[in-house]
Amino acid sequence: MCEVVAREAAGPRVVAETDGFLAYVPEAARWPYEVYVAPRACVPDLPALDAARRDELMRLYADVLRRFDALYEHPTPYVACWYQAPARTKRDAAHLCARVYTPQRTADKLKFLATSETGGGAYINDVLPDAAAARLREF
Ligand SMILES: [Zn+2]
Repeated sequence: MCEVVAREAAGPRVVAETDGFLAYVPEAARWPYEVYVAPRACVPDLPALDAARRDELMRLYADVLRRFDALYEHPTPYVACWYQAPARTKRDAAHLCARVYTPQRTADKLKFLATSETGGGAYINDVLPDAAAARLREF
């Protein structure tokens, strides 16, 4: 994850950033609008951040949610998954990351998973990740 974050920081899919965190559309996004928010440094979980870094992360996270809401003329539903280290073991193998998705693919259409997506994990996304990032950067 450290290598991915470093690579994405220099690429076209950055949506927003701070000194310590990056918000980007993953290279192989599964959803039309999907953003990962991760620390640039290898941090295992939220408790490992000091208060200033937690505030910085929450400001960036709120910024991403505001950008999602700006996509359409109504609030955008979303799902947020926070990936953190296990409490007691393998903490150094984890890299904190929030993954935010919306099932809204247009103002009035939701994405429904097809057979290949549900059964095989092979997602079909009709919005290119670079284009999704460019649109989210506009807001
Ligand atoms: Zn890492």
